Amino acid sequence: DIARLESLIDNILFASKMEATSSFMSKELINISEVTEMLVKKLQVNPKQINISGQVEPNVYLETDPTTFISAINNLLENAIKYSPEKTAISVVLQHTGNAISISVADQGYGIAEEERERIFDKFYRVGSENTRKSKGTGLGLYIVKRFVDEHQGSITIQHNQPQGSVFTLLIP
Ligand code: ATP
Ligand code: MG
Repeated sequence: DIARLESLIDNILFASKMEATSSFMSKELINISEVTEMLVKKLQVNPKQINISGQVEPNVYLETDPTTFISAINNLLENAIKYSPEKTAISVVLQHTGNAISISVADQGYGIAEEERERIFDKFYRVGSENTRKSKGTGLGLYIVKRFVDEHQGSITIQHNQPQGSVFTLLIP
């Protein structure tokens, strides 16, 4: 519960910071490969025994706000864990192709219905399904992810994973 409260407080503070300033991000050139590896490693030990693997191209740099980046990736990973059954797998891929960076998080969880896909990025929106109601949350995580991507003029897409689950892909120019 303490960890959950900590991430709840982080999200609330973040979301209000984003509202308060039109450009909330500081710009620093950071090695997002290292940061992503670190976040993957941190969540590898999780109560659901979900196996998280990372396929991270080394030394990809992005000029971004480090805390916003961490919050965005952490929210995607936390969702992947939260909305998946025990002992499934999550895979994280980070790569630099052409002039874009792509980061994807694929889970084998409950999936997201087509008609929910636009709304889940709204502030405080949570899907009204049984699986979502069983888990605690505020509906701020994906709002933060979306704001991060928008700030970079990037895009975020959701696809079905095979045989089940979702794949979130961020594309940052
Ligand atoms: P918070 O992140 O603020 O703790 P939350 O997880 O409910 O709360 P979001 O991260 O914004 O909020 O996600 C919004 C909703 O989208 C979730 O309530 C859940 O229904 C759905 N969702 C998000 N990620 C996934 C996923 N990987 N698989 C299935 N459903 C998801
Ligand atoms: Mg969340």
